[in-house]
Amino acid sequence: MKLDLHVHSIKSKCSLNPKWLLEKLCKKYNIVPAVCDHNKLTKLNFAIPGEEVATNKGEFIALYIEEEIPKGLDIFEAFDRVKEQGGLICLPHPFDFKRSRSLVRFNILEDKEFLKYVDIVEVFNSRCRSLEPNLKALEYAKKHNFNISFGSDSHFFWELGNAYLKVDEFDKDNPKDLIKELKKVRKELFTLNNLYKNPWIGNRFYGTLGNEKNISLYSKYLKNFRKMINI
Ligand SMILES: [Zn+2]
Ligand SMILES: [Zn+2]
Repeated sequence: MKLDLHVHSIKSKCSLNPKWLLEKLCKKYNIVPAVCDHNKLTKLNFAIPGEEVATNKGEFIALYIEEEIPKGLDIFEAFDRVKEQGGLICLPHPFDFKRSRSLVRFNILEDKEFLKYVDIVEVFNSRCRSLEPNLKALEYAKKHNFNISFGSDSHFFWELGNAYLKVDEFDKDNPKDLIKELKKVRKELFTLNNLYKNPWIGNRFYGTLGNEKNISLYSKYLKNFRKMINI
């Protein structure tokens, strides 16, 4: 199965991925997504539950939580709330300076306290505009021996499948099982010497940078489209 640990649904204001369509496409392409809407917890039977949480020090992804984490908390308070619920903490596009909520802008990535909380680092995000932030994330994950994920960060259905990890069948409802798979993939990724290309295709890994023009073009129409379909 293909694991895409960063997908948005229509519950995010900036996304136009209807849940029914996500479900259909994920089934068709054998993708297990983590649906992580901005400051909203989304639970869907075909997906890993998640939320992309904005804190006072940038955003992170909470996986396997039961209760929504409110926006704007102190980052450590938000982390504690995730851990109290048995959830996992993933760092999305941590080195992407172009996004205002990336962790790199808050000078916290090497904080000792912060490092203790991290479960997963997203080392490929298809919405980064260049490979550099992805390479930096990979170096960071290697340095601290963190688990890794690939995420399409799909806001529109045509972005789904832009990045994924190929993993063996596992119980997607069990965070420990997910970690087990990620550990296997990490081992393979860290022993590779070749750097990312675009698209980047390995037996286990797929990552391509999305088409920037498409994204901005369709974003313009998003507001009108929403009105038209009355959401
Ligand atoms: Zn968004
Ligand atoms: Zn996102």
